[in-house]
Amino acid sequence: KEKPSLHVFDTLESEVRSYCRSFPTVFTKAKGYTLWDAAGEEYIDFFAGAGALNYGHNNPVLKQKLLQYIQEDGVTHSLDMATEAKQQFLERFRQVILEPRGLSYKVQFPGPTGANSVESALKLARKVTERSTVIGFTNAFHGMTLGALSVTGNKFKRSGAGVPLHHSVSMPYDGYLGENFHTIDYMENYIQDTGSGISLPAAIIVETIQGEGGINVAGAEWLRRLEKLCKEHQIVLIVDDVQMGCGRTGTFFSFEASGITPDIVCLSKSIGGYGLPMALTLIRPELDIWEPGEHNGTFRGNNLAFITASEALRYWENNDFSKEIIDKGELLNLRLCSMVSSFPQLKGQVRGRGLMQGIAFETNGVAESLCELAFSKGLIMETSGTDSEVAKIMPPLIIDQTGLNRGLDILEQCMKELAA
Ligand code: PMP
Repeated sequence: KEKPSLHVFDTLESEVRSYCRSFPTVFTKAKGYTLWDAAGEEYIDFFAGAGALNYGHNNPVLKQKLLQYIQEDGVTHSLDMATEAKQQFLERFRQVILEPRGLSYKVQFPGPTGANSVESALKLARKVTERSTVIGFTNAFHGMTLGALSVTGNKFKRSGAGVPLHHSVSMPYDGYLGENFHTIDYMENYIQDTGSGISLPAAIIVETIQGEGGINVAGAEWLRRLEKLCKEHQIVLIVDDVQMGCGRTGTFFSFEASGITPDIVCLSKSIGGYGLPMALTLIRPELDIWEPGEHNGTFRGNNLAFITASEALRYWENNDFSKEIIDKGELLNLRLCSMVSSFPQLKGQVRGRGLMQGIAFETNGVAESLCELAFSKGLIMETSGTDSEVAKIMPPLIIDQTGLNRGLDILEQCMKELAA
């Protein structure tokens, strides 16, 4: 089939500086883990809206609830007003997510995006501790606003701000300097080095697995030591679960596997359930010292998102969904490991957990070529890592084993062609 409406695509390319070059077609329809373009070509989605579509495109149950709500003229936009949709979401979030995990957080709606949640976390930590510095990590990604960018460990993204960013220190992430370098020991020495004029940081912000940074996984013990370090020095521990939360790694919160309890948790992307903008900042109750109105935003009361978010939480009412993610993650891992060992000349290494995995390649350009080739065969996936060295596999969590295998068959064929 001919590629569709190249004219439209050309217009987009020339007028909008966007990522559309990576996926050169015009998409018209999407359902579950599949997208279609204007020529009727089918694509398997191993990208899932960068983690915003954990429950798939146009999830039929969520869609039904949304349509019904709109049909009945439910409130769509409500700022801080109490609405039935918001109350239902809050109640269900408490019942299904927080209480069974023994977690006690106040829930804030900081605005529609992940960066809004990160901003609110950074601001609150600074206000609570009356300290200014925040520690972030090498290769971290926290968003595009000034505060979030100041703790993002990516030179290219930081250069978007034009001039150096303040109030942040970058520390080596777990494993960044090799297995024998104990980064927590280093941090412990650093923050206590008052002789050098170092003052205690307000917060440490961490992703348990760095999604944009190249699927770097922090060890459970490392995270526990990080938590201990924070406790000892009254540093606010912020876990940015914007991408790894909502089940991506097999548990609702990515930090559950390590048993830590962050002071603040940032959630967004898939919390809205249907790809609708929504974000949460979960705050340990003692830290909630804000006066009403000290942090807000016009789109903090997106009731359409509350409707789909409430319904999406049904997936978490028992352990089956979690178990399915872990099972599919094991299948994914087995197949990726087998591909990597079948084509050793590509020098790939499998990384990740649950349905957040990928292959890191030693040679620059391999991951990009792989994604490009995959797209030409009907598979959508993106690269990650500072040098785009990782081919990232992040399908919707609702994908069935058949869909997963179909996508992986394409990937295997691409690896074979690249290795030839
Ligand atoms: N934190 C993490 C870990 C992310 O992956 C992202 C988005 N990729 C953000 C924050 C920023 O979210 P948003 O783009 O919705 O502002």
